Amino acid sequence: MSDTNIQAGQLHIGGEWQAAASGETFETLNPSTAEALTQVASGAAEDVDRAVRAAREAFENGAWPGMDARARGRLLYKIADGLEARADELARMEAMDNGKPVREARMIDIKESIDCFRYYAGWADKIDGDVIPVPGPYLNYTRREPMGVCGAIIPWNYPLQMAAWKVAPAIACGNTMVLKPAEQTPLTALELARVAAEAGLPAGVLNVVTGFGESAGAALVKHPDVDKIAFTGSTEVGKIIQREAAGSLKRVSLELGGKSPNIVLADADLDAAVKGAAMAIFYNAGQACTAGSRLLVEESIRDEFVDKLVKRAAGMKAGDPLDPKTRLGPLVSQEQMDRVLSYVEKGKAEGAELLTGGERVEVNGMRGYFLNPTIFDRVTPEMTIAREEIFGPVLGITTFRDMDEAIHIANSSIYGLAAAVWTRDIGKAHRAAHRLRAGTVWINTYHNLDTASPFGGYKQSGYGRELGKYALDLYTQVKSVWVSLG
Ligand code: NAP
Ligand code: MG
Repeated sequence: MSDTNIQAGQLHIGGEWQAAASGETFETLNPSTAEALTQVASGAAEDVDRAVRAAREAFENGAWPGMDARARGRLLYKIADGLEARADELARMEAMDNGKPVREARMIDIKESIDCFRYYAGWADKIDGDVIPVPGPYLNYTRREPMGVCGAIIPWNYPLQMAAWKVAPAIACGNTMVLKPAEQTPLTALELARVAAEAGLPAGVLNVVTGFGESAGAALVKHPDVDKIAFTGSTEVGKIIQREAAGSLKRVSLELGGKSPNIVLADADLDAAVKGAAMAIFYNAGQACTAGSRLLVEESIRDEFVDKLVKRAAGMKAGDPLDPKTRLGPLVSQEQMDRVLSYVEKGKAEGAELLTGGERVEVNGMRGYFLNPTIFDRVTPEMTIAREEIFGPVLGITTFRDMDEAIHIANSSIYGLAAAVWTRDIGKAHRAAHRLRAGTVWINTYHNLDTASPFGGYKQSGYGRELGKYALDLYTQVKSVWVSLG
């Protein structure tokens, strides 16, 4: 990659760039071309152990946890400034490594990552305790102390943003961290380590170990000296992590998959709902944990709504992510494309009606993993494509007769990450919002997110709330201190 200064094949441990102990590397691909971008170090158990030891040393004996909270905050502001100074380059790197449109990478991933560091910079000196009116001649007060060494394991769909969501609150609270990015998209995590080091973050506070889930990720989860694991990814791996973490009872927070319902009532502003429904599923090529993959439409408006939606989808063809006009890039990998195409086959086999898309397409002669927007109609709640997370640009449409039925279908899922409802009736909108079992509910909008607002799942979409003041609970523990006044 000529336009970036990637430290090819190196891990960032204890403030130094170093090769994996095994000397092994692996390729990260550009999903638009299916060609290698660069080599990345293949970290494994020995490297994770070195990184955990560096993080432990920085936590026990380093300057970070004991530094004036305000000075810690200033350092997070500097990291945000460092990211901002390189925002265009980072957006390009994300577009090349993940395949997402460069415009979205710049306006969402990179912007939100910068925002996240600024937001938690502001929290650093506001993490206070209470004085509790206990009986007797005693003073009792609480302190919110850092957890210690935190491990973060993140997915490939929002590489830098997922790193920021974990690193920023963790270090603002005085923790140290070992970050394992996804094997498909390791580049911006390494750049984050570089930017943080340049900003003056002490050695060992943020360590990045690139590598595979089964080796580097698993070693981090099992490591006895890691106090907490923050994970975002599939529900399947989330369950493995919870089991493996039990060995040392380390704290775990999990942000997992979803199968989010998007409910359109007959009295909705239909044009806004059509636009919203398309964005809900096709944004990031459907590779979003909150993707609105189940569209529930009131029977009386079905024909008109589906017509409009299919027309809109037809105008959203996949394109080159580096073209600023592109809104739909390729899927992240051959594996992901194969997975998504296998769901398309299942949808057809189980009797859903394919209205548009469903096939791999070529874009500008590039041999990447491109798929056009795909819509299935006449999907019943029992079908595989209505139950399982597809993580691609594939929408299933189901109709309902009344609100009770809509809520029943919406809540009939093992997942509960997000949901949306479109209606002009304010009472109905709030009643639906209260009855939907999901960590986020949108009314007449979709995919809104902000660093200040909590994010996380109900049911098998995970537990713990990232972002906002809620993330401070994930990265601190409460100590009660008693003082005799007698
Ligand atoms: P995944 O396997 O859950 O990967 C997420 C992260 O966990 C990656 O860093 C991965 O490393 C790591 N990992 C994998 N196995 C591990 C283990 N045994 N112990 C510790 N860490 C481990 O997700 P995926 O395979 O990339 O995607 C599969 C499906 O998961 C997708 O199709 C989608 O349905 C879902 N998904 C959901 C989200 C979300 O935001 N909720 C994000 C991504 C994927 P490697 O990358 O090296 O495997
Ligand atoms: Mg890649």
